Amino acid sequence: MAARILDGAALATEVRARVTSDVAYHTTHHGPVKLVAVLVGADPAGQLYADRQRSLCVKTGVQYELIELPDDVAQRDVLAEIDRLNGDPLVTGIIVQMPLPHHIDPAMVQWRIDPYKDVEGVNPANIGLLFYHAPIIAPCTALAAIEMIHASGCEIRGAHAVIVGQSRIVGKPITMFLLNEEATVTGCHVATRDLAYHTKQADILVVAVGKPGLIGAQHVKPGAVVIDVGINSIRVTTPDGKETRKTVGDVNFDEVAPIAAAITPVPGGVGPMTVAMLLRNTVQAAQKQIARRES
Ligand code: NAP
Repeated sequence: MAARILDGAALATEVRARVTSDVAYHTTHHGPVKLVAVLVGADPAGQLYADRQRSLCVKTGVQYELIELPDDVAQRDVLAEIDRLNGDPLVTGIIVQMPLPHHIDPAMVQWRIDPYKDVEGVNPANIGLLFYHAPIIAPCTALAAIEMIHASGCEIRGAHAVIVGQSRIVGKPITMFLLNEEATVTGCHVATRDLAYHTKQADILVVAVGKPGLIGAQHVKPGAVVIDVGINSIRVTTPDGKETRKTVGDVNFDEVAPIAAAITPVPGGVGPMTVAMLLRNTVQAAQKQIARRES
């Protein structure tokens, strides 16, 4: 039987509707929700990303401001800008767009964001609090992957979850989330011997590597839930011989969909949910700042 396709775009629409009503409530009772993005350097991809952020924020009632700093800005000036935003009570969320120029240490910048305003959940304080099952704000992509697993309807408790890819911001937080939900978890990475041996045992298989086609039918147990976090742009030739680009995940969808119980497509799976989680984190950050002030 073919897998159920987990429609991230549809789920994201539901999340955005809830966020819109939470933002309206917050604005009425406590003041606006305001997200500030810091972009260092004139990177066209960063600009495009910021335009998309602005449009989504506006649609959900979140105020949005983009602060652009020059390519050669000193690290101490970026940190000073973050300190200023941390101290501004009208700013409820902060994002620093990656990548940063080479002379700026991204970890230093992420450390500096107030964990209550860190809407991407990238401050090590927030990632560390996952160990306590109590992040103030969790990393968006990990939240999105977990939401997709929940949407599949499978029982996480007691399931064997295998996470391929163990980056600090994506793979490891997903691993920790699933441990917290009492799955039995195997973490695979670049040094894993015989990847298929491990992935074949997974009731829940999450792949977050960045290698198109890494996971094929031979890696998947029939009936598994497969969450493809990977986003890769590959070159393809159209039937009329033209070269073009296509976005694919890390899982060979055509091979795996016929044997899995549920699968996320790329595009249209974890990606749109990650953006929805960013918006949810943005309103939750504002709510948590009120709770912190009142406690
Ligand atoms: P990353 O920092 O490059 O981490 C990739 C991880 O995969 C590392 O742990 C790496 O191990 C491991 N790895 C590399 N080759 C492997 C192999 N052959 N077998 C098993 N593991 C291997 O990337 P990331 O930021 O976690 O992102 C992973 C993918 O998710 C990318 O395609 C990215 O574009 C995508 N992504 C998607 C979303 C979304 O919203 N859907 C959001 C963020 C990222 P080592 O560190 O030991 O090399």
